Amino acid sequence: MDIDFVNRVRDRIECMRVRPLLQSFLDGELDKPQRQRVAAHLEACRRCGLAASTYESLKRRLGRFGQPADPDAVARLTDFVDRLADAPDGDGRDGTG
Ligand SMILES: [Zn+2]
Repeated sequence: MDIDFVNRVRDRIECMRVRPLLQSFLDGELDKPQRQRVAAHLEACRRCGLAASTYESLKRRLGRFGQPADPDAVARLTDFVDRLADAPDGDGRDGTG
């Protein structure tokens, strides 16, 4: 059994569990155990870390005008971030791996 494959699958499962929690995490709505779990994953997983920081800066931008975010815009952004997180690795820029 390829241990690398197993690890990869496990990472993907954790990503799927963590991603729906990202927004609540950034809004500070999670319990402590959940928060710690998401935080730990964000440190370990570059994609989810990237998704989290994208959410954060988008939120900041949307909140700047002091009005509730347009749900339609939020849905589109969420979709965008999801696709970002699903994007395959290896665009060749990262030489150190
Ligand atoms: Zn992840």
